[in-house]
Amino acid sequence: MYNMPLYRPPSEAYSLIIQVTLGCSHNKCNFCSMYKSKKFTIKPLKEIKKEIDIFRSIYGNAEKIFLADGDALIIPIDTLKEILKYIKEVFPECKRITLYGSPKSILYKTIDELKELKRLGLSMIYMGIESGDDLVLNYINKGVASSELLNAGLKVKESGILLSVTVIAGIGGKDRTIEHSINTGKLISNISPDFLGVLSLMIEENTELYKDISSGKFSVLSDIEVLKEIKNILQNINTKGKIVFRCNHASNYLLLRGDLPKDREQLIREIDNALENRDIRDEVERML
Ligand code: SF4
Repeated sequence: MYNMPLYRPPSEAYSLIIQVTLGCSHNKCNFCSMYKSKKFTIKPLKEIKKEIDIFRSIYGNAEKIFLADGDALIIPIDTLKEILKYIKEVFPECKRITLYGSPKSILYKTIDELKELKRLGLSMIYMGIESGDDLVLNYINKGVASSELLNAGLKVKESGILLSVTVIAGIGGKDRTIEHSINTGKLISNISPDFLGVLSLMIEENTELYKDISSGKFSVLSDIEVLKEIKNILQNINTKGKIVFRCNHASNYLLLRGDLPKDREQLIREIDNALENRDIRDEVERML
C-alpha cells in the first residue's frame, strides 16, 4: 500500500498514515537523503479517496491521521480541502489530522486558507526550521531565509493551527556553531511555536554534506560540542508563551524534555550534569 521509504514524526507513531504525496517538493537540503529516491508527486484525488476507503476497511477506527510524505501542505487548496472533508466523512471519529508543511508551502497559502484547513480538521503542521542563521540556511540549501521561516511560523500561529518545528544541532558545523545557536534561539523566540524538537545532525553517505565532510569543507561537531550547542540554543530562547521542548530523537546523545520557559534552567542543569560526568569519564579513561 505504501511507497517506501515512509517517514513520519516520532509523535505520529500511533497515527494512521495516508500517503497523499510522494517525496519532498524541495528535496535539495544538502544533509538530507530521505526522499532522494522519489520524484515529488501529488497523488490524484480519486486515488487518495480510494486509499482512504481501503484504510477504513482494514483499520476500522482512526483517531489520529498523518498525511505523508514530506510536504503534503503543497497540495492545491481545493484538493486539500476535499481530502480533509473526505477523511472526516469516512473517519468521523478522527480527532486530529497533521502533516509536514515546508515554509514555502505555508507561505503560498493565505491566512484565510489556513484557517479554512483548520476548520476542516487540520490540527497541526510540522515545519523543519533546521537553523535560524542565514549563512547556515544558505549553505544547507534550505531554500528560504530566516525571515521567511519567521513569516511562515507566524502565519501558522495566526491561523490557530498548532505548530511543531524542528531544529538541528550541529548543522552549522564548527565554523557556525555560535551563530547557529544564537540565531536559532532568537528565531524560535520570535515564532514561539507550540512544540520544538531538537535533533542532532546525522551524516548520511549519499548527501552533498557528506562530500563536504570528506573534502574537509565542513567540520562535524563532537557529541560534547553538540550538547554545548543545545545548551546555547536553550539559553537564547526567550518566550513568554509555552513551548513544549523535546530533544528525544534517536539522533540525540542526551534525552531532554520539558516546557519552556518554565523548565529552561532545569534543562540547562541536566546538560551541565551530562557535560560534567562526561568530563569525569574522559579523565578516568585517560588515567587507565
Ligand atoms: S525539506 Fe525536509 S525532506 Fe525536503 S530535502 Fe529538506 S530536509 Fe529533506
